[in-house]
Amino acid sequence: MPYAEVAVDAPLRDGRLFTYEIPPQISVAPGQMVQVPFGPRMADGMVFKISATTRIDPVRPIETTDPWGPVLTSEQLELARWISDYYLAPLYSAVALMLPPGFRNRTASNLAMDASETSAPPKDREDSVRASILARFTGRRTTISEATLRQAVGPAAQRALDRLIRYGVITRKWTWRRPRIPSEQEQPVSDEGLAPQASLTPTPHQPEASLTPPPHQPEASLTPTPHQPEASLTPTPHQREALDQITAAIQAHQYQAFLLQGVTGSGKTEVYLQALARCLEDGREGIVLVPEISLTPQTVRRFQARFPGQVAVIHSRLSTSEHREMWWGLFHGRYKAVVGSRSALFAPVHPLGLVIIDEEHEWTYKQQDAQPRYHSRSVAMRMAQQTGAVVVLGSATPDVVVYNRAQSGQRLRLLELPYRLRGEGQAGHSPLAQVHVVDMRTELREGHRGIFSRLLQTELADTLARGEQAIVFINRRGAAGVVQCRDCGHVARCRSCDSPLTYHSETERLICHQCNRRHGLMTTCPDCRSQRVRHLGLGTQRVVSELESLCPGVSVLRWDRDVAANPQAYETVLDSFTRGDAQVLVGTQMVAKGLHVPSVTLVGAVLADIGLHLPEFRAAERVFQLLCQVAGRAGRGERAGTAIVQTYLPDHYAIAMAAEQDYPGFYRQEVAFRRAQRLPPYSRLIRLLFTHTNSGLCERDAERMARALRRQRQAWSISEVDMMGPAPAYPTRIRGRYRWHIILRGPDPRLLLDKVDIPEGCQVDVDPVSVL
Ligand code: ADP
Ligand code: ZN
Ligand code: ZN
Repeated sequence: MPYAEVAVDAPLRDGRLFTYEIPPQISVAPGQMVQVPFGPRMADGMVFKISATTRIDPVRPIETTDPWGPVLTSEQLELARWISDYYLAPLYSAVALMLPPGFRNRTASNLAMDASETSAPPKDREDSVRASILARFTGRRTTISEATLRQAVGPAAQRALDRLIRYGVITRKWTWRRPRIPSEQEQPVSDEGLAPQASLTPTPHQPEASLTPPPHQPEASLTPTPHQPEASLTPTPHQREALDQITAAIQAHQYQAFLLQGVTGSGKTEVYLQALARCLEDGREGIVLVPEISLTPQTVRRFQARFPGQVAVIHSRLSTSEHREMWWGLFHGRYKAVVGSRSALFAPVHPLGLVIIDEEHEWTYKQQDAQPRYHSRSVAMRMAQQTGAVVVLGSATPDVVVYNRAQSGQRLRLLELPYRLRGEGQAGHSPLAQVHVVDMRTELREGHRGIFSRLLQTELADTLARGEQAIVFINRRGAAGVVQCRDCGHVARCRSCDSPLTYHSETERLICHQCNRRHGLMTTCPDCRSQRVRHLGLGTQRVVSELESLCPGVSVLRWDRDVAANPQAYETVLDSFTRGDAQVLVGTQMVAKGLHVPSVTLVGAVLADIGLHLPEFRAAERVFQLLCQVAGRAGRGERAGTAIVQTYLPDHYAIAMAAEQDYPGFYRQEVAFRRAQRLPPYSRLIRLLFTHTNSGLCERDAERMARALRRQRQAWSISEVDMMGPAPAYPTRIRGRYRWHIILRGPDPRLLLDKVDIPEGCQVDVDPVSVL
């Protein structure tokens, strides 16, 4: 009797597979979804392997199999394993990334009350919970779903419910939802796919066959009539050079990764478009990732115009039916490419020839809030290695780690587009914005205390007088808690590790978020003896009101996360500003990205140094990237642009180099710092995060883990991995939960981590993009 080895949707830390018996006459293949018993319950599962024998005894049988055969290829299964291993995440969480829409969380249960049952459980403390459970079954409602009941009764429901089931008062029936798939997809043999006996009927359909695209369905071209594809532009010499290398790699069917470096407007997208054309001509398909789909509508439209009817768009805001149409359209080969955010990387694109990651330095490519905490760039490279595909990473300000690899030329080849093009297909170059750095200490010394420096005031007035538009940018991220001298810009830093300190009101102390060292308050500046020491921080609202009093009658639009909480609001504000409804746009990080408004000729960064004081190693890189992007918003049209960067730290390399838009200059200083601190690219990091509603228990959990790590480090003499912390993370508390963390640093921190048991509730982040 054959056995199936299954990844089960259960809270597990590792990539373990569980063995199940395949009932007679059932066809099960790797890549197929199944429902399996797991402990006292049923769970979703994914078949990874079929084996003829097993040493496990007894083996429970598979409960239900998916009637339409495998939905994942062997390459996808292998990739899921890699993701699970590398990011220390449950195997099923990696599988879930790749499933068709609606294929997650299929197992549910229905509860029914047996009215004739009299052997009620003994009375006890749970009486009131039990009563509220039983009350749900009154009247005609004899069956309800367990999920609904739990929602209604709350977390206490579980125990009481288990008892009611044990005593036979309530019976539980497991179900397995049959997801909807588009009609052209082969239907299962039975309509009652949910009923075990029906879905266990063998399917006539060969497992592997469903992965071969069927002939083009006539009804698919009901969809929009193919337009004439937009013609490609004649490449500039630099574009040609880049394209030649990319094309050669595509045609060689050999894995190769490129870093395409060029400022916005230097012609990167045109290179992507022509590279994708080469890939499609070669009979393979492509994936194009963009950081946030709502901020890049222009890019998406260009791909659709160049490849009409062939490009699917996948992102998290699609409706279920749109998502389904896109996913299965790719599965059946109706679409040849996908453009989308992070999750589009896992769309069924076969055979894969090319992956493009635009703005590769953006942090949205790392999944941070849920398992697996993967980075799209690393996964894309792994995927491309499997299939002999090509990866193109594009950025004006590459991730320092990526640029480091490209410089050595070992893992990535560097391609450069050094000039900004005039655009709209015109020949020639256009200059970057002129950047002026304003030293806010001088402003203060000379008695100017406002948010806006004199230069920015004059430039604003002139810009508005000329009928042009301006953007005022404030970096809000990282302002909270940092303490700075207003006169010289000195920021309180830790004496042990030089990380910026943050103020904690509960204890009236400054705390280092890296080593947990506590320092007294800074009331007098140690550098200049000034007593004007303050907390950083500034809201959009304050900037808007100061702007309004400065330029009476000015029309201002605000754009930040608070205002643009919903996706439509992005486009409304963007459209309204592009139409010229407002003269000034005030906003946070988001204004720095994707905004292409030709009549903007002035950009002001109110306080450029804010993010520099975050207690994390990527702070300077982040600020440099943001400032380059901000400056890039000015002068996109006919007229030249000006950018004004206000700062207390005009000499800080992140600011000085951003003003020059000098990436190599920035890079040289940044890697010197990284090398001295043994930070990536000179090491790898793993962050272990503990959270708890009780601050003491949170600290205790982190301490316990730290002790275990220290012990193992000594026992195995793993001196090349060291440990930072435990220390409070930043911010110390999020949504009522305290946060402590430990950061492991070394050439391979897994050497140490693998020696300890990772406690439940400890979040592991391998290669974190942020250690806040
Ligand atoms: P990026 O992706 O680096 O921002 P784009 O590819 O969008 O750059 O190019 C910027 C502008 O230059 C666009 O308006 C585009 O149409 C134009 N452009 C790109 N390549 C060429 C070319 N080879 N000849 C003429 N114009 C071009
Ligand atoms: Zn000072
Ligand atoms: Zn410290």
